[in-house]
Amino acid sequence: MKYYAPKGLYDITPEEVDLWQLVEEKVREEMDRYRYREIRTPLMEKTEVFARGVGEETEVVSKQMYTFEDKGGRSITLRPEGTASVVRAYLEHKMYGREELSKLYYLGPMFRYETPQKGRSRQFHQYGAEAIGSSDPALDAELIELSISILEALKVEEVGVKLNSIGCSEDREEYVDQLRSFLEPKRAKLCSDCQKRLEANPLRILDCKEESCSRLIAEAPRITDYLCSECEEHFEGVRNYLDRVDLDYELNPRLVRGLDYYARTVFEVFSADLGAQDALLGGGRYDGLIELLGGDPIPAAGFAAGIERLILLLQERDGLSTDGKLDLYLATLDQETKEKGFELLRRLRKSGINAELDYLDKSLQGQLGYADRFGADYTAILGPRELKEGKITIRDMESGEQQLLELGDLEGSLAEILEKDGQ
Ligand code: AMP
Repeated sequence: MKYYAPKGLYDITPEEVDLWQLVEEKVREEMDRYRYREIRTPLMEKTEVFARGVGEETEVVSKQMYTFEDKGGRSITLRPEGTASVVRAYLEHKMYGREELSKLYYLGPMFRYETPQKGRSRQFHQYGAEAIGSSDPALDAELIELSISILEALKVEEVGVKLNSIGCSEDREEYVDQLRSFLEPKRAKLCSDCQKRLEANPLRILDCKEESCSRLIAEAPRITDYLCSECEEHFEGVRNYLDRVDLDYELNPRLVRGLDYYARTVFEVFSADLGAQDALLGGGRYDGLIELLGGDPIPAAGFAAGIERLILLLQERDGLSTDGKLDLYLATLDQETKEKGFELLRRLRKSGINAELDYLDKSLQGQLGYADRFGADYTAILGPRELKEGKITIRDMESGEQQLLELGDLEGSLAEILEKDGQ
């Protein structure tokens, strides 16, 4: 074969697409129940939107963006995440002028130039929710609860929630100073990436998976000991609301998120079944971002979830059929019965029945083989004699029982039979 998809980019084939559609359907249903409305932003933005919004120092912006110059000489970037675009759109459409709180969600592809591995690709898909306009801790709790609720709707229940507060920017400034003074004398023991992070973004060291670094970090000062009283109270509020709905979480003072815009609440939902890339979704509060992108200081919070990782979990589970269903396979024997079959097929499909016939000029044997392969609930053979009598025999593929039906109202009788089966 001559052409392959570019490295790290994958097709979603018809064999897998059922699960994708299931995820999309449940996401939409739950978002709707929690009154988040969908927003669809372009797949590309001006590069500054991400450079400013996500932060120049972050891994995503400094290493992972697909950035190019368009024919007009503008620097354009394929979106690596959803939040900055949503906030750009929120400001562009002056949503703050129409409503005090905007609850928005998105679902679609994101692009990051990363090393592909299980659970990590260069085009991946996220759904996410953003609530812009309130700093109420109940909203942070709602977002966490909503993220779990979507997983529950998909019957993914073996997950853990990590929760932390990284305070406001003043708290972090003080904490980062302390963290630096703690780590500086031990610089040589940090991995080479973390040695660089020590200057640029020491908080990210807390996130490092290298054993030497995590050992040091275990003894480092904790951000939660540096929260001002407002941030402390806010964090207590979030926990209180989560306790109210019996949502389990583990406090993790080492949890920071890779993107710069977070403040106060940060959380992650993970699944031990996923291996190294175990984070299913992450989010938190980003009170400074709206101002950073040119708006007033409007508080906001949100989360983003990776659909590929969710699909990995769903694929491991039994009992989820990934075949499209087929109610009736209609085999025909010659040109005349095929023409009648074609007409019947339209009538059946119009009345909501999945039906299929042969387009490959197969023998009767071959057609029945296909019916089997497609897992048809019923098959029928329309021969010249049946056609002349205006009747057709359908066969229940599971029980082997047969029934004679009138061609005149095949769709009506078949719908009745299928309905009875479904009960
Ligand atoms: P982030 O936007 O980095 O906070 O990521 C949120 C979620 O998106 C993660 O928990 C993953 O489930 C998913 N995700 C992020 N990057 C990738 C990637 N390169 N491939 C697949 N999923 C990803």
